[in-house]
Amino acid sequence: MNTFEKDKKYVAPTYGRFPVEIVGGKGSVLRDIDNKEYIDMGSGIAVNTFGCCDDEWVSAVKAQLDTFAHTSNLYYTSPCATLAQMLCERTGMKNVFFSNSGAEANECAIKAARRYGALNKGEDYYTIITLEKSFHGRTHTTLAATGQENFHKDFLPLTPGFVHTPPNDIDALSDAVKNNKCCAIMIEIVQGEGGVNALQSDFVKEVYKLCQENDLILICDEVQTGNGRTGKLYAYMHYGINPDVVTTAKGLGGGLPLGATMLGEKVKDIFSPGLNGSTFGGNPVCCSGAINVLSRLTDEFLETVWEKAQFIRDELSGVSGIEDISGLGLMIGLKTTKEAKEVVNTCIKNGVLVLTAKDRVRLLPPLNITKEQLSCALNIIKEACKI
Ligand SMILES: *Cc1c(COP(=O)(O)O)cnc(C)c1O
Repeated sequence: MNTFEKDKKYVAPTYGRFPVEIVGGKGSVLRDIDNKEYIDMGSGIAVNTFGCCDDEWVSAVKAQLDTFAHTSNLYYTSPCATLAQMLCERTGMKNVFFSNSGAEANECAIKAARRYGALNKGEDYYTIITLEKSFHGRTHTTLAATGQENFHKDFLPLTPGFVHTPPNDIDALSDAVKNNKCCAIMIEIVQGEGGVNALQSDFVKEVYKLCQENDLILICDEVQTGNGRTGKLYAYMHYGINPDVVTTAKGLGGGLPLGATMLGEKVKDIFSPGLNGSTFGGNPVCCSGAINVLSRLTDEFLETVWEKAQFIRDELSGVSGIEDISGLGLMIGLKTTKEAKEVVNTCIKNGVLVLTAKDRVRLLPPLNITKEQLSCALNIIKEACKI
């Protein structure tokens, strides 16, 4: 059996995979089993921050692999402690819970918010408001947090205590705060899976105010927007707000599974030993990869991310078949006249890997993609969109 056949037979069919088998690559270029090369405009869904087989990242990870790979959270390890310190120093958050994925990072945020509500406001203050079109994960509770009916319908009943209001509608959100006993509001600064919708800056600031006025925990789900993706270390930093909890995953490990829930002043003491845990969370190998990633996301580097994002916008605006460009930084959504799926398939045929998000074509290139690679990919994307 070849890989396609084996996968079809033995892997649970939860994914609609493209008919491509990746066997290797370097940087922003990937290679399939037929030796065909692709420019990677997806980064494994915003995970491979510095692309494939980045030398520095690989050395950092290998060095830790040669030292020790896992100890469990019963013991202290330096990579975990150092990464937590780096995250806190760069964000002003107070401490960090490590896990393995975005969903798990959000589960921790939800637990922190619920416990905060119960301890500070009353046992029935457990409602968390999230936005319609949001995406917060695939575990049962993060599905409940996800504001999209189509994700819910097959798994009812879901965890109670989640209310969804439309993005950019501050009146609807204020009403929901008034009409429910709430402990938190959870937002994505740019809704990724929901169609690459950047929230309006005024709305984000109003959400922050509403949280302050009502003693609500503001959770920013930065699983996709975090770690330099939007041209700031975390996307909330574009708006001068201070969330109480920031969750991240995808790009943090640079290609290894790592989730982080950063806890601010209000919730820094919410957990005591035994209240949360994760066998693999804070794994030394994953943390070593993340330390390398974070240490390279300097202000100067983030400036280049922003420049590349501008370059993409300039190149794609006004192009035949591209009706709108959404997103922030190197998280870009294209409303195309052709079906997004058709554009993606044409791009793949012509050697560029791009993604979709709802009805949009989604671009999430590695943050260190070169200008030449970008130009080449954009020409192929333009051609595929053209009507
Ligand atoms: C991908 C994503 C998640 C889920 O992350 P997993 O690692 O797949 O569990 C949660 N929130 C947002 C905003 C995401 O983009």
